[in-house]
Amino acid sequence: MQYISTRGGMEPVSFSDVVLMGLAPDGGLTLPIYYPRFSNSGLESMRKLDYRDLAFRILSKFVGGDIPSRDLEGIIGKTYTEENFGTKEITPLEKIDHNLYLLDLSRGPTLAFKDVALQLLGNLFEYTLEKKSTHLNLLGATSGDTGSAAEEAVDGKSKTAIFMLSPLTGMTHFQGAQMYSRKSPNVTNIAVEGRRGFDDCQDMVTSVNKDATFKQQYRLGAVNSINWARVAAQVVYYFKGYFAATDDNGQSVNFAVPTGNFGNILAGYIAKQMGLPIRHLYLATNENNVLEEFFRTGIYSPRSETIHTSSPSMDITKASNFERYLFDMLERDARKLNRYMALVESGQPAKISERYWERVQNSGIIAGTSTHRGRLYIIKAFYKKYGRLVDPHTADGIKVGYENRDLDMPVIFLETAKPAKFEATIREAIGRSPEMPSWYDPGKDYKPDFVLKAGDINGLKRIIKQRAIQ
Ligand SMILES: *Cc1c(COP(=O)(O)O)cnc(C)c1O
Repeated sequence: MQYISTRGGMEPVSFSDVVLMGLAPDGGLTLPIYYPRFSNSGLESMRKLDYRDLAFRILSKFVGGDIPSRDLEGIIGKTYTEENFGTKEITPLEKIDHNLYLLDLSRGPTLAFKDVALQLLGNLFEYTLEKKSTHLNLLGATSGDTGSAAEEAVDGKSKTAIFMLSPLTGMTHFQGAQMYSRKSPNVTNIAVEGRRGFDDCQDMVTSVNKDATFKQQYRLGAVNSINWARVAAQVVYYFKGYFAATDDNGQSVNFAVPTGNFGNILAGYIAKQMGLPIRHLYLATNENNVLEEFFRTGIYSPRSETIHTSSPSMDITKASNFERYLFDMLERDARKLNRYMALVESGQPAKISERYWERVQNSGIIAGTSTHRGRLYIIKAFYKKYGRLVDPHTADGIKVGYENRDLDMPVIFLETAKPAKFEATIREAIGRSPEMPSWYDPGKDYKPDFVLKAGDINGLKRIIKQRAIQ
């Protein structure tokens, strides 16, 4: 399989190159030149596979011979273990009610769905870097959950160091604790003080990556959801959820996806392109509803301020992965995409033309917004009715999925994190705290390694120079 850039300025490259590259050299995002498709009988033969074999079937299409099958099996086998995810199922499906399902994606070590992709990415890095006898310094931004999951994935691995930017305010105390309590020489936590939370962090990552000389000199790579391998890994659980909720391939399902950076739902969209019978993908935003606005109006209009909400991992007003989807909607015309992104990057609203709007409407995505009140209501109601406690992000997905569901077919709510990560909101909803892991100390002041002002690119480069693997 070969990969191209959404901005049209990259000769096709292989899967391993794309894994190490993160952002393409022309500033675009990488995509396979086509989406592999499974026929009906192909799907049938996958129905009974366990998670690892399923992952192998799907991922080998994206790897496309670039990693020998035995090695890929080894990488997958060591990633998706009961030890790592607490269950052989990896992402178990629970039936909640008639046609209502919860796909539990947050059994990994950091209690969010990010582990499913990042645990694989950590092992892919290790393998690829070993093969190429080189190293990588990962630079990433987090709104809360990517940070700890990425650090967990590379902590102690010898050929990678990680620099993680997180917003100084906006994450929960527990999320801060998960990252800042880690004191490994190859992990550096940098908190960013600014008004736009995650977006400030992401902009700094983008700026540093634009300095091609610096990027090359320090061998910078990416772990955030722009890394193609993450998207590919996430495609797998849509198949897993589909097979677990249905009896045969004649049935269709809907998925409800709480959305921030558009990584998770992009994987669902791609699963659908690959032939998985998904009718609708319900995209749920929180109060930062840029994406919901796009799917309602055709206008994509990133905002200059991000609202702090009680589903903080979705406090994003510029969704990086949206570019991949847009590229497809623009019939993969890189010139048009460039024009569109130039508008977006200069802070102006960009409207999609009539011709492409129709494609958007046919892509299966239906968007809705959830707010603090809706979130609390769902957490409480779901707990009361089903005895199942869900986190605020999952609740956003449930709210939008439930409102829009087709009564005649299953809707699968993606459970993207465990309640322990968002203690205060859970307490507000049900009047008591969720169960917390024993290592966590709520009274302790967990501190990042560095604090920078938003936009302090030189400060960030100094830290990288000081602590990078060279
Ligand atoms: C990251 C995250 C999301 C948003 O996922 P995207 O891939 O960024 O759209 C939703 N819920 C939780 C708990 C998350 O950590």
